[in-house]
Amino acid sequence: MKIAVIAHDGKKAEMVGFLLENKEKLEGAEICATGTTGSHAERGGLVVTKYLSGPVGGDAQIATLVAEKKLDVVLFFRDPLGKHAHEPDIQMLMRLCDVHNIPLATNPAGAQLLLDGLYQKGV
Ligand code: PGA
Repeated sequence: MKIAVIAHDGKKAEMVGFLLENKEKLEGAEICATGTTGSHAERGGLVVTKYLSGPVGGDAQIATLVAEKKLDVVLFFRDPLGKHAHEPDIQMLMRLCDVHNIPLATNPAGAQLLLDGLYQKGV
C-alpha cells in the first residue's frame, strides 16, 4: 500500500497520533508526506519519504503522484478554520484525487474507515 499523509499545522499532532495508533495496519505500507508533516511523523518513529513542505510545492508533488496513479490512498487532515497561502495547490490535490478516483480522507474518522477497509481488502 502506498499512502500519502498531509496535515495542516493544527492537525499534525492528530495525524502522528493516528499513524501511531494504526502502526500495525500500516506495516509494510510505503508512506510519503509533505515536508513538515513527514518530519513530525519521523519524530514519532515512523519511516516516511518526505517531499517539499506544502506551502512551497509539497501538495503539488503529491498531486503529481496521484495523477500518475502511484498512490493507493491520500490522508489529508485539513484545518477547516485556517487560511492557507497554497489553497490552489490544496484544491488541485483534492480535485486530482477525484479525477483519478484515488481514495481521499480529510479527517481522522474518514481516514480510519479508509484504512480499515484497505486493510481488510489486503491492499
Ligand atoms: P507541511 O505541509 O506538512 O509541510 O506543513 C502541509 C500543508 O500545509 O499542505
